[in-house]
Amino acid sequence: MVSEKKDIRSLTKEELRTFFKSIGDKAFRGNQVYEWLWSKGVHRFEDMTNISKETRTHLEENYVINHIEVNSLQRSSDGTVKNAVKLHDGLIVESVLIPTKKRTTACVSSQVGCSLDCKFCATARLKRMRNLNPDEIYDQVVAIDKESRLYHNMPLSNIVFMGMGEPLMNYKNVLASIDKITSEEGLGMASKRITVSTSGVPKMIKKLADDEVKFHLAVSLHSAIQETREQIMPFAKNFTLDGLLESLEYWYEKTKRKITYEYIVWDGINDTYEAIDALVKFCKAVPCKVNIIEYNPIDDGEFQQAPKKAIDNYINALERNRIPVTVRKSRGKDIDAACGQLANKSS
Ligand code: SAH
Repeated sequence: MVSEKKDIRSLTKEELRTFFKSIGDKAFRGNQVYEWLWSKGVHRFEDMTNISKETRTHLEENYVINHIEVNSLQRSSDGTVKNAVKLHDGLIVESVLIPTKKRTTACVSSQVGCSLDCKFCATARLKRMRNLNPDEIYDQVVAIDKESRLYHNMPLSNIVFMGMGEPLMNYKNVLASIDKITSEEGLGMASKRITVSTSGVPKMIKKLADDEVKFHLAVSLHSAIQETREQIMPFAKNFTLDGLLESLEYWYEKTKRKITYEYIVWDGINDTYEAIDALVKFCKAVPCKVNIIEYNPIDDGEFQQAPKKAIDNYINALERNRIPVTVRKSRGKDIDAACGQLANKSS
């Protein structure tokens, strides 16, 4: 059941201090409670042992502490771990831990379902149910960090917002979660280890630049030809490539940080020389690198990974034009944890 009481974790430290002052206590009590909630991550008021019983009861009468629960955990043969995460209202999202030799990366969700309608993505079929709150995003990272230490003997080193949802359509909460993740009172992680991936919402990309964010930006491009992009990512009718490019130029001018383009090559969709030329041209406009990602089939075969030859054509053309390109192999496919496969199948 969803409680009527307010989630105490939606309060800022200042608001907590004000609350304590308003009940005739010391403002400093707010700092203590804030520390319990964030650095120590307690889920019950009774665990706040340096707070008097009377105060704890008072808190309990006014607030709840919402938190996530890892409902089920699946481990892939390649070390990838997928969490089905239950939110306080019973909805489920997924997050993934991706280990490599030198680092571990958390792939976190920003929405339940997704606002967008990419034809090749399993999450798109869930439709958007709601945005995640900052604490729900933060908690996914905390859970993955614990699993990274437990299964791979190292703290979490990187975070990508490439799970369910479109982060820039939940702008405020995503940025608030990153503030917590990077603050000393939270996880103290460096912003440069965080990447936010977007399907390309120009207005919000400009806002990121204006807000002087310090993390990296990735754009799921998949085609640099407007007509093709509209077919596979129908929302692109409203957010055109011209508008996208203009916002990326703006981003680079302000941040001087290279953009990563994520790109899948499909048979018969974007495997032509025309498509390659369009990508090269697009890439020349703003400093960037291209990450070619493997397609993870989600259905009956409308989309099929192009053969190696087509990928090589892309790589050759990009390299000839001195555009950095990497090819990312899929991880966690056996447990549906790979890109575009997050669809709450197991929960
Ligand atoms: N909405 C944001 C965040 C999700 S990131 C965005 O689109 O960037 C998820 C990434 O996986 C995106 O690059 C997306 O294009 C890619 N993806 C979606 N479905 C996929 C699939 N079936 N196989 C491989 N990658 C996929």
